[in-house]
Amino acid sequence: RAKQQGRNRHAFYTEQMTQSSMQQLRLQTALRGAVKNSALSLVYQPKINLRTRKLIGVEALCRWTDHELGVVSPAEFIPVAESIGLMPEIGLWVLKEACRQARIWRDQGLNPGRMAVNVSGSQLTGDNFADSVARVLTQTGLSPDALELEITESVVLDNPASAIDTMDKLRGMGVSLALDDFGTGYSSLSYLRKLPLNKLKIDQSFVRELPTDQDSGAIAMAIIAMGEALKLGVIAEGVENETQAEFLLRLGCTEAQGYLFARPLLASELKQLLQGG
Ligand code: C2E
Ligand code: MG
Ligand code: MG
Ligand code: MG
Repeated sequence: RAKQQGRNRHAFYTEQMTQSSMQQLRLQTALRGAVKNSALSLVYQPKINLRTRKLIGVEALCRWTDHELGVVSPAEFIPVAESIGLMPEIGLWVLKEACRQARIWRDQGLNPGRMAVNVSGSQLTGDNFADSVARVLTQTGLSPDALELEITESVVLDNPASAIDTMDKLRGMGVSLALDDFGTGYSSLSYLRKLPLNKLKIDQSFVRELPTDQDSGAIAMAIIAMGEALKLGVIAEGVENETQAEFLLRLGCTEAQGYLFARPLLASELKQLLQGG
């Protein structure tokens, strides 16, 4: 009986493992198909000035809806894309599409502010990323100062020499650079000083706990002070209520993004917003 139970348990684990690797395989296959069939899309989330509440830019965020798997979040499919080497291709598509859209709005006399695009690790430290960015800007006719690249702190910390080299080239071209999810890595002040950055983006995990959690408040305050010391802009992500917005503004954070102001929007919705509708 014990032996049979043991065998059953073994069978159970095997089945679990098979299920999760089957699930991974399905995700991988579906994602390859999505890239091939241009089934990815972008949404755009406004960033605002906390004092005036006016739009200062938008962040392009990638979306994927599979006909069988349904909506798959980027937090789930981006690691899969990285693991099967699809991220450079997806990332380049996102960059092109975001720049193309920004140019369209500008040609229509609308001002979306800076277009921010997230950059993955394999993109930033891959071959000639700065050249790819230059090519996309030329092809789409978007000015470099209308583009901002968001680089997560962990990506820079993984491969600092290569990351800094590429970041220097991008800054040299006139593209803005923001350090995304800031506070979740371990950057020191002296280290941050070496990075050619324009902006720090306070991670939403700290913003979420404001103002009740004292540690998060202290971290937000420290990040804002770091920004001031290094003459960098500071933006808070994930602002969901007025209490958080007021708290951040009182600490000296002048820019924000979050559901309080706007969710990520379809291009058509953002256009309406820009038209004042
Ligand atoms: P991120 O760049 O830090 O983007 C912020 C995430 O927070 C987005 O999730 C956004 O929809 C969400 N968010 C915005 N405001 C709020 C809020 O008030 N409350 C809460 N709870 N969440 C809010 P999303 O779109 O699911 O993206 C998740 C992450 O996936 C992004 O984090 C980014 O790291 C990555 N990602 C998304 N699109 C791309 C892309 O095109 N390329 C790369 N490399 N990464 C991407
Ligand atoms: Mg981002
Ligand atoms: Mg972020
Ligand atoms: Mg984040």
